[in-house]
Amino acid sequence: MSRLDSFIRRMTAQRDVLNHIGERVRALDGPVLELGLGNGRTFDHLRAHFPGRRIIAFDRAVGSHKSSTPEPENLIVGEIRESAKPFAGINAALVHVDIGTGYEEKDAITLTWLPQLTVALLAPNGIVASGLELDHPQLESLPLPHNVKKGRYFLYRRV
Ligand code: SAM
Repeated sequence: MSRLDSFIRRMTAQRDVLNHIGERVRALDGPVLELGLGNGRTFDHLRAHFPGRRIIAFDRAVGSHKSSTPEPENLIVGEIRESAKPFAGINAALVHVDIGTGYEEKDAITLTWLPQLTVALLAPNGIVASGLELDHPQLESLPLPHNVKKGRYFLYRRV
């Protein structure tokens, strides 16, 4: 599989997973957190699917398209490991994690702090959709949509 094929499959999985959890997330109170604003594509998708919901986006730098840049109060610039800490206890309905790099060694470092931080951001029963596998006793795996291959994206509920 070429990197282009792999990218398309990952993007398709990402969209399908975000669509799949819509009802569950709408049933919960609390904001949506986007870890990894990037170009703002998934931010825009979340905004379209959860109208009226506060969406707070995090990134180390603002590189989003003008049309997909959150208002300043919902845009947190900095290293997520530190910049998201003050949001612990915010009781997010959904945390979308899109900060994987495709480099195993870099992602391994991220995974030393990401699962614990994600749990701290979530409401009980809150949902995490993640491009990286998160291992934490308070995160219970949820089934993926039938068309998303296991391991391509990850879905959890905070217990
Ligand atoms: N979700 C985005 C979209 O749909 O356009 C793509 C996100 S891109 C794959 C990953 C982003 O996460 C990059 O913009 C990068 O700067 C940011 N990022 C990765 N690790 C980070 C960290 N530890 N702290 C802050 N930002 C980080």
